[in-house]
Amino acid sequence: AGTASKIAAGEVVEKPAMVVKELVENAIDAGASEILVSISKGGKRLIRVTDNGSGINKEDLPLVFERHATSKIRTIEDLYSVVSLGFRGEALASISAVSNIELITMQEADESGIKVEASGGKILKTTPVGAVRGTSISVKDLFFNTPARLKFLKSDQAETRAITELISVLAISHPEVSFKYVVDDHRQFDTPGKDKLDQAIYSIYEPELMKHLVGVDAQDGGMTLRGYISKYGYTKGTRAHQFVFVNGRYVKSDLIRDVIQMAYKPYLMHNRYPVCFLFMDIKADYIDVNIHPAKTEIKFHDEGAVKQLIYIGLKKAFNLYNQ
Ligand code: ADP
Ligand code: MG
Repeated sequence: AGTASKIAAGEVVEKPAMVVKELVENAIDAGASEILVSISKGGKRLIRVTDNGSGINKEDLPLVFERHATSKIRTIEDLYSVVSLGFRGEALASISAVSNIELITMQEADESGIKVEASGGKILKTTPVGAVRGTSISVKDLFFNTPARLKFLKSDQAETRAITELISVLAISHPEVSFKYVVDDHRQFDTPGKDKLDQAIYSIYEPELMKHLVGVDAQDGGMTLRGYISKYGYTKGTRAHQFVFVNGRYVKSDLIRDVIQMAYKPYLMHNRYPVCFLFMDIKADYIDVNIHPAKTEIKFHDEGAVKQLIYIGLKKAFNLYNQ
């Protein structure tokens, strides 16, 4: 089926966490320094993302609910993803097709804000409202008009877990943004923004964990590695607590996981996993750009060099600690 009918059938958006991801990424794209994410019933009843970014231009507002309304095609790579995935400029349209949306937005120069209410992709009402600069989008009753999709969703707890994991990764990969995260009216965490990465990690994970982290800092062959890894005495780590970012993008790499395990091995008494937050910067032509930016896979051209950097970086961190 064509993209239009897929959107109409609600096939593009699959689960609440996907909605959250698109809304938060839009907020980041809009230059927000503060983002509030609030969900209820695993995102099935409500997903609200409020930001202090640029706001949406009044004239553009109706377009936001239509396909290909993107204002963001700037590079050849952007264009490539439009052609191959057809998802650029379609996130909001796809989400609004399968939910009830209330959107409030205001730009710096506006006299007042504007509120748009839409249902199943149709704008019902547009009213001026008091507001501050930024955008707040409430997605209610997700999949209300696509019962088949609704039936596929997991329990509220499972959908909440997926959203929590996503927000954690987004908050750690964007320490410049302050994230507030609220689940069913209970505050979960509140990161400080202003590039305070260690405080962001601290506010998301148990403060207990911070005492067990050592700094990682290494460079080699035009690549840099920094971040934190848990000391060998920390026993509560699982593979779910290994966060690796390459050029700011969250990735899952077996290669990197294996090296982490290898570097950690001499310290292991049992089969344990260190907790880590590793940020690697590498020249764009050292990685495979054909792998789509939205995917978490990554392919390195020189795997040996990457392995060596990580191995040496982690060894250095452990040794410093052990002195
Ligand atoms: P894309 O992000 O690929 O451009 P979306 O469907 O996610 O497509 O968003 C459509 C457009 O709506 C964006 O290009 C942007 O102009 C505007 N927009 C969406 N969310 C926000 C926001 N939080 N702040 C400012 N503009 C936004
Ligand atoms: Mg978007």
